[in-house]
Amino acid sequence: MQTKRLRTDPIHLKETVATAAAILKAGGTVAIPTETVYGLAASAYDEKAVKKVFTAKGRPQDNPLIVHIADFSELDLIARDIPAAARRCAEAFWPGPFTMVLKRGDRIPPSVSAGLDTVAVRMPDNPVARAIISASGLPLAAPSANLSGKPSPTKAATVIEDLDGKIDAVVQAGDCTVGVESTVISFCTDPPRLLRPGAVTPADLHELVPDLVIDRAVLAEPEAGEKVASPGMKYKHYAPNTETVLVKGGSAAFAAYVNAIPDCAAVCFEEETEQIKVPKLCYGSEKDAATLAQGVFSALRLADGLSVKRIYVHAPSTEGIGLAVYNRLLRAAAFRVVTV
Ligand code: AMP
Ligand code: MG
Repeated sequence: MQTKRLRTDPIHLKETVATAAAILKAGGTVAIPTETVYGLAASAYDEKAVKKVFTAKGRPQDNPLIVHIADFSELDLIARDIPAAARRCAEAFWPGPFTMVLKRGDRIPPSVSAGLDTVAVRMPDNPVARAIISASGLPLAAPSANLSGKPSPTKAATVIEDLDGKIDAVVQAGDCTVGVESTVISFCTDPPRLLRPGAVTPADLHELVPDLVIDRAVLAEPEAGEKVASPGMKYKHYAPNTETVLVKGGSAAFAAYVNAIPDCAAVCFEEETEQIKVPKLCYGSEKDAATLAQGVFSALRLADGLSVKRIYVHAPSTEGIGLAVYNRLLRAAAFRVVTV
């Protein structure tokens, strides 16, 4: 299959939106930019189209997809028995990097949710994503547009690296502004539960969902045989091919640790680059976790390209959006953590 490249400069944008919408209406797959990461979209009403998404990504069949909408009125078509707290969250955080797990409405085929009777819904903020969803007139099931297990794509070039020839089109826009996937909370548990941290933080949620609990899987490795609330959390995920280790500790200790290890690379903060003598990539500023979120996935991919034996990543603080970055790195490192 030839993957069409669709441009989003002012001259091409209108045609791109129309082409993407036509492909989606015809049951095809299109990678679209969102503010979190690029998503691989297909009609959430079309079981065959949804199957193509799983196949192109090599995604395990039991890992459900998030349904993306562009208008509040669509929420009641996707989900049912929506609690008042969920509606308040939608008003507060949509459009934006926030996903709610609710009871699945009848029009959404079970395969979107990997057979669960729940459905995850989000309204993205990216204007190109919104224009494509609106023009298609469809809710779009869209997981991250990468090969399953690899670091998520925050650039169109990364989507092409992973999925060229496997999807119908890729909408080429700039880098994603948030850089990590949306916050996922389930309103199908009592009390509601944070399944995946993102740019909407537990502190942001506190006022609207005072009884929110943080799922154990956010910061810990699931135990053998443990039933995880969010199927995506049980897989090795976001991972370079090179063995990766997450390192906790101060800058001087991190630098001393990696400098003594042969054939390794460091993924570090910009404040500490001068102290590090091994090949290194900085993923943002220690003082600004939002920059770490923007840079983390492309730094992991670039570090993988250095062909070293091991990658050591300096762990961020878990404050604010740092919790989301830490959560992704923990999985990228297959839960290998050292403290220096
Ligand atoms: P991705 O599409 O790559 O951003 O992954 C979607 C994430 O949302 C995965 O971690 C899924 O396990 C989670 N998710 C999607 N739908 C549901 C659902 N119905 N129940 C629980 N988790 C879900
Ligand atoms: Mg993903």
